[in-house]
Amino acid sequence: MSLDAAPPISRPLTQRMADAVRTFDGPLTHELVLTPGKFGLGRLPATLQPTSVTQTVCGFCSTGCGLTVHLRDGEAVGLSPATDYPVNLGMACPKGWEALTVLQSDDRATTPLLRDAAGKLQPTDWDTALRTFCERFQNLQAKHGPESVAFLSTGQIPTEEMLFLGALAKFGMGFVHGDSNTRQCMATAATAYKQSLGFDAPPFTYADFEQSDVLVFVGANPCVAHPIMWERVLRNKRSPKIIVVDPRRTETAACATQHLAIQPKSDLTLLYAVAHLLIQSGWIDAEFVAAHTSGFDEFAAHVGRPQFAPETAAAACGLTISELEELAATIHQGERVSFWWTMGVNQSYEGVRAAQAIINLALITGNIGRPGTGANSITGQCNAMGSRMFSCTASLPCGREYTKEADRRETADLLGLDVNRIPAANSLCYDEILDAVRDGRIRGLWIIATNTAHSWINSAEAREVLAKLEFLVVQDMYVSTETAAAAHLILPAAGWGEKEGTFINSERRFGLLKKVARAPGQALADFAIFRALAEYWGCGETFAEWTSPEAVFQIMKRLSAGRTNDITGIADYAVLDRLDGIQWPCDAATAAALEQSQRADEIRERRLFADGRFAHADGRAKLLFDEPRPMPERPCGEYPLVLLTGRGSVSQWHTQTRTSKSAVLRKLYPGRCYVEIHPADAVVIGVTTGDAVVVESRRGALTAAAFITSAVGRGRVFLPMHYAAVNRLTLPHFDPYSRQPSYKDCAVRLRRSKEQPET
Ligand code: SF4
Repeated sequence: MSLDAAPPISRPLTQRMADAVRTFDGPLTHELVLTPGKFGLGRLPATLQPTSVTQTVCGFCSTGCGLTVHLRDGEAVGLSPATDYPVNLGMACPKGWEALTVLQSDDRATTPLLRDAAGKLQPTDWDTALRTFCERFQNLQAKHGPESVAFLSTGQIPTEEMLFLGALAKFGMGFVHGDSNTRQCMATAATAYKQSLGFDAPPFTYADFEQSDVLVFVGANPCVAHPIMWERVLRNKRSPKIIVVDPRRTETAACATQHLAIQPKSDLTLLYAVAHLLIQSGWIDAEFVAAHTSGFDEFAAHVGRPQFAPETAAAACGLTISELEELAATIHQGERVSFWWTMGVNQSYEGVRAAQAIINLALITGNIGRPGTGANSITGQCNAMGSRMFSCTASLPCGREYTKEADRRETADLLGLDVNRIPAANSLCYDEILDAVRDGRIRGLWIIATNTAHSWINSAEAREVLAKLEFLVVQDMYVSTETAAAAHLILPAAGWGEKEGTFINSERRFGLLKKVARAPGQALADFAIFRALAEYWGCGETFAEWTSPEAVFQIMKRLSAGRTNDITGIADYAVLDRLDGIQWPCDAATAAALEQSQRADEIRERRLFADGRFAHADGRAKLLFDEPRPMPERPCGEYPLVLLTGRGSVSQWHTQTRTSKSAVLRKLYPGRCYVEIHPADAVVIGVTTGDAVVVESRRGALTAAAFITSAVGRGRVFLPMHYAAVNRLTLPHFDPYSRQPSYKDCAVRLRRSKEQPET
């Protein structure tokens, strides 16, 4: 039975429940005829010669590369980067090339698993699994109230599934609390944009990488984290100046015109000091400021104080005055200056204000809304933007707010719901949900496609918290994650390539994900699991219209009408497929222009705010600022080093749940945890490259192989985040506005070890 052929809701409930469970057997879709010779497939053995190809989007990072999947008898046998997709132009990184491989793994979840009385996970059938899910959560709600259960969503599933999950849990099942793992990566950027620009609206398009004459990267290492975006920078023919602000000499910093190796967490001071210099020198776009911003006088007074004067600020940032002055002069001299940031800014206890300090620089210099400009947050996960727009976690769909009655009513009307089904209060955030588990307010948790026990800050404590739950459901592709190990019930999910839907990438482009492989065993698309759960829970009729991902895409269009992210002009999936994805916004006029443009780049790759009108009611962007604060856990005699964390290599993805399944990818990154140590710090403990060292914080310790390099400054060490042990060390502290964890600053010490480095 295909997903499109959903059972009519008038049939008896038991039959509907049974049918809902069978919806996994969907067809492989969207095949196109192969153009012989176009895709260079001569190396495939004759038995594997594909007979057709189809185009899909990658499911790892937020770049959203187009991939051409080669099909034989309708099933994928290989892939290559799509040559004319406007994002990647024929390029892909190793993760994209290996996207099919990681689906083939012995630890795929193939059947529901239920923990028995002896504490062992045992295979069970879907009917038992779904009944257990509903009974256990409903019992908790009946006994302890609706706030005793919660869910944790993800940036890894299609937008339609995210919306279904959030709507099902909150409007169907009566959950009050649900957050997403995008809290760990993009909450800061989303909050910063919303406060400053009036809507969570990254303004750029990837063409801006090629059209800037100055690119300023703050806390971003696209060479490793977003390699195809970096390839777009390399296509820039304007001989751009590339400035990198980062405590480490990253791969991107090594390519930069100017690298400012700042003291960890001095970025806010640096950015205010640059604003100080620009304003004092008269290097601002006064006309733009007057016409399109508010709060300039207050901002100028704030950054005009002596603490942001070059001589004071340079010392605080560990820079020279001339380095600061050179940065300000380069920004001034650039006609097209673009500012880019990612986790070095977002994952900070003052990340929102740092992101807004970047936005302020773009605003006061008039570098927004024009080619090659912008205050541009690069997203992390493949569908973090989908989560920000549609997941019903931190906000109602399309930026509406739970606490505003008008927004609740509008959402209820658009979804055909009783408004009383929509909570009138905001959900607890991720850290607050775990706090509530710790103190017994939350007793049941449903985690979908994320690995909390590995990725959450101070992970040892997170694992203790998960162990307190009376009922933990993990819905995932793999049974081997650290979080699945704690589950009472595992729901086996299909992965990328085994289902359909849309992802929204960093430049706001909806890309179409297609089903090109069958999920193993009884694993179901998350969409099918949500449909089945709606029926078993007894709220199936509320979601009678939610029959397929494309049906939900039509609901998403309705929710977006008249909003900043309006997509009402995108007729259906076929249009997304034909036009190589479409950026939001896209109303009917834009859609018509896209159809007529013959793929003209200026309409295929659109940026926001060309008219200088922002999404606040007065049309102006706000210049927001605050006082910089010191790191809460500073180096001291006992713990003398600052621990930095970040991405390790292009072949690793987050907790390595998927990338560890590819032998090719495993060969491209170190199998054991390593720590970068400055030569002067290595001498102190007498280690050289390859020696085992213990890295220890106040919360935990790990053993890693020493890698001695001056890329990391003296007094700092760097650990790649992909190894499970790393978050044993990190300090749980959060940005006060975004509640995003600050992963990149805590105090540690080193000592030699005889143990093997951890994997
Ligand atoms: Fe996939 Fe990102 Fe690599 Fe592109 S850059 S192939 S989207 S992981």
